[in-house]
Amino acid sequence: MSSSVFEEAKGQLDKALEHFRIDEESELRLRTPKSVLQVSIPVRMDDGSLKVFQGYRVRYNDLLGPTKGGIRYHPNVNVDEVQSLAFWMTFKCAVVGLPYGGAKGGVTVNPKELSLLEIERLSRGYMSAIADFIGPNVDVPAPDVYTNSMIMGWMVDEYSNITREHKPEIVTGKPIALGGSEGREEATGRGGFYAFEAMRSGLGLGGKPLTIAVQGFGNVGYHFARLAAEAGHRIVAVSDSKGAIYKKEGLDPVGVNKVKQEQRELKAAYCKGSVCEFVEHQQITNEELLELDVDVLVPSALEKVITSENADRIKAKCIVELANGPTTNDADVVFEKKGIPVIPDILANAGGVTVSYFEWVQNRTGYYWPEEEVNSKLKAIIDKAAAEVLDLGKEYKVPLRTAAYISALRRINEAVKAKGTLRNFSMRR
Ligand code: NAD
Repeated sequence: MSSSVFEEAKGQLDKALEHFRIDEESELRLRTPKSVLQVSIPVRMDDGSLKVFQGYRVRYNDLLGPTKGGIRYHPNVNVDEVQSLAFWMTFKCAVVGLPYGGAKGGVTVNPKELSLLEIERLSRGYMSAIADFIGPNVDVPAPDVYTNSMIMGWMVDEYSNITREHKPEIVTGKPIALGGSEGREEATGRGGFYAFEAMRSGLGLGGKPLTIAVQGFGNVGYHFARLAAEAGHRIVAVSDSKGAIYKKEGLDPVGVNKVKQEQRELKAAYCKGSVCEFVEHQQITNEELLELDVDVLVPSALEKVITSENADRIKAKCIVELANGPTTNDADVVFEKKGIPVIPDILANAGGVTVSYFEWVQNRTGYYWPEEEVNSKLKAIIDKAAAEVLDLGKEYKVPLRTAAYISALRRINEAVKAKGTLRNFSMRR
């Protein structure tokens, strides 16, 4: 029987703890979420009927600061997935040194089946249901799969209606007009690109332009592909939930995205078109994309797409995890044996939460930065974290994922010790 996503996630922590011991109390606190909220969201549908959706918000750990994490709308959202994503957020924020703990939220819904007005009512209903559980100094949501800046705008508006106060820092990833940050929209893909560029020489992939396949051509995958193509790399394949396209000579990510956007029935929250309808190119399946003979594979969609089933057939020389949890622990073992480095999610996709942090800081000070400043601050943070993870990998002779956990554990452990553990008290006796 395959293990739950949460068990998989905790398996990664166990592996890091084999190499880097932390205080027993720190470990205990990292094994379970701080709090888990499940809510029912009644939504009046366009035809007058009422539907009730299930929503979740998990605050995993707040040792380093207020909890932070996105909100996912997807039919497969469940409490196991949300707490796994909240767990990863805890380590992600710590790897890049942000003053945040980890959280995540989600609603079990297929948003493609809802009208835009129904999505607005659902989003306001979700915010209303979780409003007492969150706060600018408590827990700060953001976008994730199938949520975007428009949805964050509705949520911040709803929160202001509830609290009768202007508090833009309650949600990040907002539209610029409602207090969003320059550069937030593309920050996750950009951060992934910076991490990859910072590490590739150290991974033996320096110098020459590389061939890249991107699974999941959404916000994160698109911006990574665009920046990589601008830097001279060849994006040979991209995909979305409906299928993949392949072109040996290289695709133009901006052109593909334009076609994808133009095929939207509503120029709004969701795209009915799909990259596989961009017919000039060879159509392949998502599974075939993962197994292409490329230099770099970039999973940017959902969890558990690279497993013990297909890991052996993966030919890429390096994997950059822009999605959360795309590789199972069994597959990691295969890559370790084959010497294929995996730049792990908790580092590779940390650019999003980093610029969310910048947005929160800007909202709290009321002073807004130009895009170049956002990007250069993001690069400084990602470059530093990437160098630390590479160094720790060498020092402990462990894969990059374990090195990233060690880097996060060091920071979390310091915070636990600073708050006082049994050992502090025992020493005084
Ligand atoms: P998105 O909704 O913009 O895009 C998701 C893309 O994945 C869509 O193109 C969708 O069609 C595609 N997809 C869905 N199922 C698929 C499948 N089975 N095979 C191939 N493609 C499929 O979402 P996003 O914000 O780009 O998020 C993508 C991943 O990045 C998620 O794992 C998310 O948790 C992670 N992430 C996002 C952010 C962020 O700031 N948005 C930050 C960190 C991590």
